[in-house]
Amino acid sequence: MSTNIMIKVESVKKFYKKSHALNGITLSMNEGEEYLIRGASGSGKSTLLYLLGGLDRPTEGKVIVNQKNLVDLSDEDLALYRNRYVGFVFQFHFLLSSMNCLDNILLPGRLGGVYSDEVMSRAKQLAKILSVEHCLEKYPYELSGGEQQRINIIRALSLKPKLLLCDEPTGNLDSENSQKVIQLLRSLAKEFHATLVVVTHDPQIAQSFSNQLLMKDGLLVTQ
Ligand code: ADP
Ligand code: MG
Repeated sequence: MSTNIMIKVESVKKFYKKSHALNGITLSMNEGEEYLIRGASGSGKSTLLYLLGGLDRPTEGKVIVNQKNLVDLSDEDLALYRNRYVGFVFQFHFLLSSMNCLDNILLPGRLGGVYSDEVMSRAKQLAKILSVEHCLEKYPYELSGGEQQRINIIRALSLKPKLLLCDEPTGNLDSENSQKVIQLLRSLAKEFHATLVVVTHDPQIAQSFSNQLLMKDGLLVTQ
């Protein structure tokens, strides 16, 4: 396994008007490894994930990905970083109801100007692995919650992200399907040599990860 450091978070704070979401986080993550983030609701897990994914900017500190501080990027370059580099899987998926599932999956590629046969064939290959081939021509509202989540995962992986960020990806699934989705995310991340970061409160899922981060009140705590 590679031990190249991919991400360095240095003294990161994130304040909102009424709350201190992050109070000084320092961590590093290696390329191609898996990380699990736990912590009570409100402890700052989602905020940390948003900063890693360039969806938001810290109030203070550095978020360095492959030697580049995301804080220094323009909004345009940050959007490019998200599009080319990061895959997001959230508990509540954001499939667009106005287009069918295949178009939803191809959207990031089209937006990023990398629409290609390769993206299309990867989408179809992943749909086969995830048993949602029959869903590609359907609209999201015609699918079950589990099917929608799998389409969402395919979309997140459509551009082979180097960083796969999953925020409570199994929050609305039963425990059997939760296990399946997590196994799948892990094996796909391995296949794409992506760094995987998963936020969950599910203790059963948590225990199988070797790199564990525990958050409390906007800080990382030792376990
Ligand atoms: P977690 O994901 O661990 O539940 P969050 O990162 O969502 O925690 O939130 C951490 C803290 O920051 C909470 O107190 C939350 O209310 C606050 N917070 C998160 N996002 C916002 C926002 N957009 N505006 C104001 N406060 C926020
Ligand atoms: Mg959260």
